[in-house]
Amino acid sequence: MRKTLDKVDIKYHVDYNENGFTDCAYHGCNDEGICRCYTIESPYIESIDYRSVAEKIYAEMFADTRKAKLSDLLYGGVSIDIYCITRLLSSYKAIDYVEFEWRGGYYGDEMDKVYINSSELEYNINLCVSMQTLTEKLNFCLLKEYKRYDRHINDETEYEMITITQNDIDMLNINKNHMNNIKSDPMWFHSLKKYGSDIPRGIVRQTEVGYHIIDGYHRIFALDKNDKFTVFKIKNK
Ligand SMILES: [Zn+2]
Repeated sequence: MRKTLDKVDIKYHVDYNENGFTDCAYHGCNDEGICRCYTIESPYIESIDYRSVAEKIYAEMFADTRKAKLSDLLYGGVSIDIYCITRLLSSYKAIDYVEFEWRGGYYGDEMDKVYINSSELEYNINLCVSMQTLTEKLNFCLLKEYKRYDRHINDETEYEMITITQNDIDMLNINKNHMNNIKSDPMWFHSLKKYGSDIPRGIVRQTEVGYHIIDGYHRIFALDKNDKFTVFKIKNK
């Protein structure tokens, strides 16, 4: 039976911390010479790597059901689905729906499980993964993120995956302030760099002066200038 989203343990895919306390005098830890009374009070997320969480969700919720599907052969289904789940986690701000379960262990409370509790997100992930075409999947994620399509995209838009570097992008039309904002947050920047080269970074459109970025600006510019990466390109008609 397929797992539900709240059954997927993402403990090792997030950085979390917690407020907790000990009361060793009361529990007699001092006599034992070891503290066994640690009590977790309020755990919280420090950072979340949506790409890594998406891989975990895919592996636990879908991997077995999608073996050898024709759609996988046609467009490399796994990396597309992981891309889409990553986008949905981000659009829905999954970090706000993370919950924790802990229980008493030998040394006091231990974190048992960290999971995402959102039936709406679960519904949309299931719906997107069940879609059969690349167009449906990518357009679905774009609509969830931006609420409407870019003017170059519609229900008939077709996409293909290409490999490029930042040198192929038309830099003249890129907002310099936007760029500086991106680069001023080192923590975030670092996590975007880790995003990986094996799944696409965004969506582009070909123009006479280079590619224009439709989605994935931050993920693309977190890379070094000559790094190769894949993107979805709108197919020329
Ligand atoms: Zn203690």
